Amino acid sequence: MSQQSPSILKTLSRGVRLCCPVCGRASVFQTPFRVRHHCPACAALFQREEGFFVGAIMINVVTTEAAVLASAGLWLLLADGSQGMLLTLLFGVALLFPMAFYHHSWSLWLAGDHLIERLPQHRPDDAP
Ligand SMILES: [Zn+2]
Repeated sequence: MSQQSPSILKTLSRGVRLCCPVCGRASVFQTPFRVRHHCPACAALFQREEGFFVGAIMINVVTTEAAVLASAGLWLLLADGSQGMLLTLLFGVALLFPMAFYHHSWSLWLAGDHLIERLPQHRPDDAP
């Protein structure tokens, strides 16, 4: 069985748009903060074995750390150096950024997995 290699840009673009990395026709999410089991259009399996999405959590943690560092750097460059407001800002970024980036971290993790080893197909006899 031969499969054509997926385009890196197209696959990552689908990941950024929260679409299925295989076909791009359906959303990865069923509801906010809930990943579909599989793609309703092409049957690509999104929810795989336990622990599969540790990588998505890692992406979210690393990008949150980068956002906190960038916020601190911008604050120190642009503000007058008020340390009290800096801590408030960083606390807000550290609290809100992971929630705002949650969907993209999962979608980008799926896109990366599809680029590396292809997402498996959901078989109807599998649950659910
Ligand atoms: Zn699909």
